Amino acid sequence: MARKQLNAPAQRKSSLAGASVQGDGGASESPRNPQRGSRALMRELNVSLLIELVRSAGSISRAELARQSKLSAPTVGTIVDHLLERGILVEVAIAPSNGGRPPVLLSIDATAGYVIGIKLRGDGLTTVVCDLEAQIVASREFPVSLVGDSGEAMHAIVSEVRQILREARVPRSKVLGVGIGLSGVIDSTAGVCVSSHLLQWHNVELESTLRRLLRLPVWIDNDVNTLAVAEKWSGDARGARHFVTLSIGRGIGLGIVIDRSLYRGAYGSSGEFGHIIVEPAGPTCECGRSGCLEAMVGEDSMRRQVGERLGHEVSRDELISLVKSGDLVACDVVASAGRTLGLSVANVLTLLNPELLIICGEGTELGPTFLDPIIRSVREETFASLGLKVEVKIQSWGDEAWAVGAATLVLRESFSLPGSDTRSLAIWHRIGI
Ligand SMILES: [Zn+2]
Repeated sequence: MARKQLNAPAQRKSSLAGASVQGDGGASESPRNPQRGSRALMRELNVSLLIELVRSAGSISRAELARQSKLSAPTVGTIVDHLLERGILVEVAIAPSNGGRPPVLLSIDATAGYVIGIKLRGDGLTTVVCDLEAQIVASREFPVSLVGDSGEAMHAIVSEVRQILREARVPRSKVLGVGIGLSGVIDSTAGVCVSSHLLQWHNVELESTLRRLLRLPVWIDNDVNTLAVAEKWSGDARGARHFVTLSIGRGIGLGIVIDRSLYRGAYGSSGEFGHIIVEPAGPTCECGRSGCLEAMVGEDSMRRQVGERLGHEVSRDELISLVKSGDLVACDVVASAGRTLGLSVANVLTLLNPELLIICGEGTELGPTFLDPIIRSVREETFASLGLKVEVKIQSWGDEAWAVGAATLVLRESFSLPGSDTRSLAIWHRIGI
């Protein structure tokens, strides 16, 4: 399966400062102390602001940093010197200058810290270690049944994190945190998997348990949301303000980004697009209701329909090869599913009016037979001319790329300004700011 490159390969930069990052190795779990001096808090805000400005610019001069941050040149200078000493920033290049002293540009040292991303599936987990530019440093695959057994998942995660850090030769003190993506209704604020049909989990307190076991900050989210975060962070949606990611496969999900923010809904279950009912008299869905979109056009449904018409069971690989070889029955079922799905997608676009639609997931392997009817419906069935204006991109994400998406959860929190999530405030403390 083709993998999506989240980022252009990082150019190796010469570090002028030794990238020695200090860490306490413990979980950053203490809530923000309201008694802490406002000076210290202001300094943290300024540090976060400057780090984010450098990251989003790629490389930037001190003068431009001062201009964009609206901080004084001496304040910027002091913080930058500190970040250089710590090896978080590096001086990378001399900008072209039309006379005078050329400014030195600053950039983030991608190896100043690392993040771990984990994609949980029913039949195993994929774990990656990424640098600060979301480039994979190490990757592991561990097959194990996680269905109905969250304890086994915790055990596997702890073991895989230990193994991959050893393989990647990354010290724990350099790890900013662990991001985990999984299918289901996830309360990402509380760190709880409220329910997952795929894993058959209910009210699993993943974040608090793993934070204690791993002694690292942990973030969890719905896996389709992690894709949206990754696309926004360093993928195709980097410049987009309003976009949706449609994940198609065994399940069907939607990641919704409105005004550059992920929309989660009141209880963290926005985007359960596969469970909108399109045919009340339709087949029973794994959620227990009838006629959900997923039960009509999901991969299992297509395999069942083709199998019934051919008179034998059809595996996932068979379905793909039948479609690719032009089998009339398989192509008929898959194209029909594409039309049904496309109509629902067009309705979503009519409702949300995004500028970009990213179609991803293993269902993209069915190729144009499945994708063309979806795109045709988007163009023709969306209200007014909205369907013609929306940009459509197809991504073939493998499990490893989904894990990178989960790792991006940590990167996003690491670089964000201190907000309501106190864990993100603590991250740069951990590596010695
Ligand atoms: Zn359903």
